Amino acid sequence: MSTLHIRGDRRTLITGAGTIGLGATAALTLGATPAAAAPATAQTASLNLHDADTGEEVWEALLDGNERWACGRATRPHTSVRWRKTLVAGQQPRAAVFGCVDSRVSPELVFDTGVGDIMVTRTAGNVLNPLVAESVSYGPAALASPLLVVLGHQKCGAVTAAHAALSAADEGHEPEEHEYALPETVEALRAAYEASKGAPGDPIAAMTEANVRLAMAALAEHPNLATLVADGELTIVGAVYSLETGLVTEIQE
Ligand SMILES: [Zn+2]
Repeated sequence: MSTLHIRGDRRTLITGAGTIGLGATAALTLGATPAAAAPATAQTASLNLHDADTGEEVWEALLDGNERWACGRATRPHTSVRWRKTLVAGQQPRAAVFGCVDSRVSPELVFDTGVGDIMVTRTAGNVLNPLVAESVSYGPAALASPLLVVLGHQKCGAVTAAHAALSAADEGHEPEEHEYALPETVEALRAAYEASKGAPGDPIAAMTEANVRLAMAALAEHPNLATLVADGELTIVGAVYSLETGLVTEIQE
Protein backbone atom coordinates (compact mmCIF):
# COMPACT_ATOMS: atom_id res chain seq x y z
CA MET A 1 0.00 0.00 0.00
CA SER A 2 1.13 3.50 -0.66
CA THR A 3 2.36 6.09 1.73
CA LEU A 4 -0.09 8.17 3.70
CA HIS A 5 0.19 11.83 2.80
CA ILE A 6 -1.46 14.82 4.37
CA ARG A 7 -2.30 17.49 1.80
CA GLY A 8 -4.11 20.32 3.50
CA ASP A 9 -6.81 18.50 5.40
CA ARG A 10 -7.07 15.79 2.76
CA ARG A 11 -5.64 12.33 3.28
CA THR A 12 -4.32 10.82 0.11
CA LEU A 13 -2.65 7.67 -1.09
CA ILE A 14 -0.20 8.60 -3.81
CA THR A 15 -0.30 6.06 -6.65
CA GLY A 16 -2.09 5.82 -9.98
CA ALA A 17 -5.24 7.65 -10.96
CA GLY A 18 -7.51 8.42 -8.06
CA THR A 19 -10.12 10.95 -9.03
CA ILE A 20 -12.27 10.87 -12.13
CA GLY A 21 -14.04 14.02 -13.23
CA LEU A 22 -13.91 17.46 -11.75
CA GLY A 23 -16.46 18.62 -9.27
CA ALA A 24 -18.98 21.04 -10.72
CA THR A 25 -22.32 22.26 -9.57
CA ALA A 26 -24.80 19.51 -10.30
CA ALA A 27 -28.22 20.38 -11.61
CA LEU A 28 -30.69 19.82 -8.81
CA THR A 29 -33.78 18.02 -9.93
CA LEU A 30 -35.85 17.69 -6.81
CA GLY A 31 -36.89 21.24 -6.02
CA ALA A 32 -36.59 22.18 -2.37
CA THR A 33 -33.79 20.30 -0.69
CA PRO A 34 -34.21 18.53 2.64
CA ALA A 35 -31.51 20.82 3.99
CA ALA A 36 -33.52 23.89 3.00
CA ALA A 37 -36.57 22.50 4.74
CA ALA A 38 -34.65 21.35 7.79
CA PRO A 39 -34.87 23.12 11.10
CA ALA A 40 -31.88 25.20 12.11
CA THR A 41 -30.43 22.95 14.76
CA ALA A 42 -27.00 22.18 16.06
CA GLN A 43 -26.59 19.55 13.32
CA THR A 44 -24.10 21.71 11.51
CA ALA A 45 -21.97 18.81 10.25
CA SER A 46 -24.46 17.46 7.75
CA LEU A 47 -25.83 20.90 6.92
CA ASN A 48 -22.35 21.48 5.58
CA LEU A 49 -22.73 18.33 3.53
CA HIS A 50 -25.99 19.56 2.03
CA ASP A 51 -24.58 23.03 1.47
CA ALA A 52 -21.73 21.56 -0.57
CA ASP A 53 -22.36 22.08 -4.28
CA THR A 54 -19.55 20.30 -6.05
CA GLY A 55 -18.40 16.73 -5.76
CA GLU A 56 -15.10 17.94 -4.34
CA GLU A 57 -16.87 19.99 -1.68
CA VAL A 58 -19.04 17.02 -0.75
CA TRP A 59 -15.92 14.88 -0.50
CA GLU A 60 -14.34 17.43 1.84
CA ALA A 61 -17.49 17.33 3.99
CA LEU A 62 -17.42 13.52 4.08
CA LEU A 63 -13.73 13.52 5.05
CA ASP A 64 -14.52 15.98 7.84
CA GLY A 65 -17.19 13.56 9.06
CA ASN A 66 -14.71 10.71 8.84
CA GLU A 67 -12.23 12.60 10.99
CA ARG A 68 -14.94 13.09 13.64
CA TRP A 69 -15.65 9.34 13.49
CA ALA A 70 -11.99 8.35 13.64
CA CYS A 71 -11.21 10.43 16.70
CA GLY A 72 -14.37 9.55 18.63
CA ARG A 73 -16.18 12.86 18.08
CA ALA A 74 -18.96 11.62 15.77
CA THR A 75 -22.05 13.85 15.95
CA ARG A 76 -24.47 11.32 14.41
CA PRO A 77 -26.34 14.03 12.48
CA HIS A 78 -29.74 13.81 10.81
CA THR A 79 -31.24 11.13 13.00
CA SER A 80 -34.05 13.19 14.56
CA VAL A 81 -37.74 12.54 14.01
CA ARG A 82 -38.08 16.06 12.64
CA TRP A 83 -35.32 15.51 10.08
CA ARG A 84 -36.81 12.18 9.08
CA LYS A 85 -40.12 13.88 8.35
CA THR A 86 -38.46 16.47 6.12
CA LEU A 87 -37.37 13.58 3.89
CA VAL A 88 -40.86 12.21 3.26
CA ALA A 89 -41.28 14.63 0.35
CA GLY A 90 -38.12 13.40 -1.34
CA GLN A 91 -34.48 12.49 -0.97
CA GLN A 92 -31.39 14.21 -2.16
CA PRO A 93 -28.37 12.18 -1.09
CA ARG A 94 -25.21 14.21 -1.63
CA ALA A 95 -23.08 11.20 -2.53
CA ALA A 96 -23.30 7.63 -3.71
CA VAL A 97 -20.97 5.28 -1.83
CA PHE A 98 -20.08 1.84 -3.15
CA GLY A 99 -18.43 -0.32 -0.51
CA CYS A 100 -18.07 -3.78 1.03
CA VAL A 101 -20.66 -5.60 3.13
CA ASP A 102 -18.15 -5.86 6.01
CA SER A 103 -20.01 -5.02 9.23
CA ARG A 104 -17.12 -2.87 10.42
CA VAL A 105 -17.30 -0.52 7.44
CA SER A 106 -20.75 1.06 7.47
CA PRO A 107 -20.41 4.18 5.29
CA GLU A 108 -23.10 6.16 7.15
CA LEU A 109 -21.15 5.70 10.39
CA VAL A 110 -17.67 5.98 8.93
CA PHE A 111 -18.52 9.36 7.34
CA ASP A 112 -20.64 10.48 10.32
CA THR A 113 -23.76 11.03 8.21
CA GLY A 114 -27.44 10.47 8.86
CA VAL A 115 -30.57 9.33 7.09
CA GLY A 116 -30.93 10.66 3.56
CA ASP A 117 -27.35 11.95 3.39
CA ILE A 118 -25.65 9.28 1.27
CA MET A 119 -26.91 6.46 -0.96
CA VAL A 120 -24.99 3.28 -0.21
CA THR A 121 -24.55 0.12 -2.27
CA ARG A 122 -22.54 -2.74 -0.77
CA THR A 123 -21.36 -6.12 -2.02
CA ALA A 124 -18.76 -8.52 -0.63
CA GLY A 125 -15.38 -7.14 -1.69
CA ASN A 126 -17.21 -4.24 -3.35
CA VAL A 127 -17.34 -6.24 -6.57
CA LEU A 128 -19.25 -4.74 -9.44
CA ASN A 129 -21.48 -6.32 -12.05
CA PRO A 130 -24.11 -4.75 -14.33
CA LEU A 131 -26.95 -5.17 -11.84
CA VAL A 132 -24.94 -3.62 -9.01
CA ALA A 133 -23.67 -0.82 -11.26
CA GLU A 134 -27.25 0.26 -11.96
CA SER A 135 -27.87 0.64 -8.23
CA VAL A 136 -24.62 2.57 -7.74
CA SER A 137 -25.52 4.89 -10.62
CA TYR A 138 -28.97 5.73 -9.30
CA GLY A 139 -27.96 8.52 -6.91
CA PRO A 140 -25.83 10.46 -9.41
CA ALA A 141 -28.08 9.76 -12.42
CA ALA A 142 -31.55 10.21 -10.91
CA LEU A 143 -30.96 12.29 -7.77
CA ALA A 144 -28.11 14.55 -8.93
CA SER A 145 -25.61 13.40 -6.30
CA PRO A 146 -22.39 15.09 -7.45
CA LEU A 147 -20.02 12.56 -5.84
CA LEU A 148 -19.48 8.82 -6.15
CA VAL A 149 -17.11 7.16 -3.69
CA VAL A 150 -15.71 3.66 -4.27
CA LEU A 151 -14.61 2.49 -0.83
CA GLY A 152 -12.34 -0.49 -0.26
CA HIS A 153 -11.06 -1.41 3.16
CA GLN A 154 -8.19 -2.90 5.11
CA LYS A 155 -8.27 -6.66 5.73
CA CYS A 156 -11.18 -7.32 3.38
CA GLY A 157 -12.22 -10.94 3.84
CA ALA A 158 -13.55 -11.28 0.29
CA VAL A 159 -10.36 -9.91 -1.24
CA THR A 160 -8.24 -12.10 1.04
CA ALA A 161 -10.25 -15.23 0.15
CA ALA A 162 -10.10 -14.42 -3.57
CA HIS A 163 -6.35 -13.80 -3.39
CA ALA A 164 -5.85 -17.15 -1.64
CA ALA A 165 -7.96 -19.04 -4.17
CA LEU A 166 -6.48 -17.38 -7.26
CA SER A 167 -2.86 -17.56 -6.11
CA ALA A 168 -3.31 -21.24 -5.19
CA ALA A 169 -4.68 -21.90 -8.67
CA ASP A 170 -1.75 -19.95 -10.15
CA GLU A 171 0.68 -22.19 -8.31
CA GLY A 172 -1.16 -25.32 -9.34
CA HIS A 173 -2.48 -26.11 -5.87
CA GLU A 174 -6.01 -26.97 -4.95
CA PRO A 175 -7.51 -23.97 -3.16
CA GLU A 176 -8.30 -24.56 0.50
CA GLU A 177 -11.88 -25.37 1.34
CA HIS A 178 -13.72 -22.41 2.80
CA GLU A 179 -16.73 -22.77 5.01
CA TYR A 180 -18.55 -20.18 2.96
CA ALA A 181 -17.53 -20.44 -0.68
CA LEU A 182 -17.77 -17.27 -2.75
CA PRO A 183 -17.08 -18.54 -6.29
CA GLU A 184 -18.82 -15.64 -8.04
CA THR A 185 -17.03 -13.10 -5.88
CA VAL A 186 -13.65 -14.76 -6.44
CA GLU A 187 -14.22 -14.69 -10.19
CA ALA A 188 -15.30 -11.05 -10.06
CA LEU A 189 -12.08 -10.20 -8.20
CA ARG A 190 -9.83 -11.95 -10.74
CA ALA A 191 -9.17 -8.72 -12.67
CA ALA A 192 -8.00 -6.97 -9.49
CA TYR A 193 -5.81 -9.96 -8.66
CA GLU A 194 -4.20 -9.88 -12.10
CA ALA A 195 -3.80 -6.08 -12.05
CA SER A 196 -2.02 -6.12 -8.69
CA LYS A 197 0.28 -9.09 -9.32
CA GLY A 198 3.88 -8.21 -8.53
CA ALA A 199 2.99 -4.93 -6.82
CA PRO A 200 5.30 -4.03 -3.94
CA GLY A 201 4.13 -4.34 -0.36
CA ASP A 202 1.14 -6.17 1.06
CA PRO A 203 -0.55 -8.10 -1.80
CA ILE A 204 -4.00 -7.87 -0.18
CA ALA A 205 -3.71 -4.09 0.14
CA ALA A 206 -2.50 -3.84 -3.46
CA MET A 207 -5.37 -6.02 -4.69
CA THR A 208 -7.87 -3.97 -2.66
CA GLU A 209 -6.59 -0.77 -4.24
CA ALA A 210 -6.64 -2.31 -7.72
CA ASN A 211 -10.22 -3.43 -7.15
CA VAL A 212 -11.22 0.13 -6.23
CA ARG A 213 -9.53 1.53 -9.34
CA LEU A 214 -11.19 -1.00 -11.63
CA ALA A 215 -14.62 -0.18 -10.19
CA MET A 216 -13.95 3.55 -10.59
CA ALA A 217 -12.99 3.08 -14.24
CA ALA A 218 -15.98 0.85 -14.98
CA LEU A 219 -18.43 3.24 -13.31
CA ALA A 220 -16.96 6.23 -15.16
CA GLU A 221 -17.89 4.49 -18.41
CA HIS A 222 -21.34 3.36 -17.30
CA PRO A 223 -24.06 4.57 -19.68
CA ASN A 224 -25.88 6.31 -16.81
CA LEU A 225 -22.75 8.11 -15.63
CA ALA A 226 -20.35 8.71 -18.53
CA THR A 227 -22.00 11.97 -19.65
CA LEU A 228 -22.14 13.30 -16.07
CA VAL A 229 -18.41 12.61 -15.70
CA ALA A 230 -17.61 14.16 -19.10
CA ASP A 231 -19.65 17.27 -18.25
CA GLY A 232 -17.96 17.68 -14.87
CA GLU A 233 -21.18 17.09 -12.97
CA LEU A 234 -19.98 13.93 -11.26
CA THR A 235 -16.72 13.37 -9.40
CA ILE A 236 -15.66 9.78 -8.76
CA VAL A 237 -13.17 9.18 -5.97
CA GLY A 238 -11.55 5.98 -4.75
CA ALA A 239 -10.55 5.44 -1.15
CA VAL A 240 -9.57 2.81 1.38
CA TYR A 241 -10.79 2.58 4.98
CA SER A 242 -8.50 1.53 7.81
CA LEU A 243 -10.14 -0.69 10.42
CA GLU A 244 -7.30 0.24 12.71
CA THR A 245 -7.41 4.06 12.58
CA GLY A 246 -10.97 4.58 11.37
CA LEU A 247 -9.62 6.88 8.67
CA VAL A 248 -10.66 6.90 5.02
CA THR A 249 -7.69 7.61 2.75
CA GLU A 250 -8.19 8.76 -0.81
CA ILE A 251 -6.33 6.94 -3.56
CA GLN A 252 -4.57 9.65 -5.55
CA GLU A 253 -2.31 9.87 -8.56
ZN1 LIG B 1 -14.60 -6.43 2.70
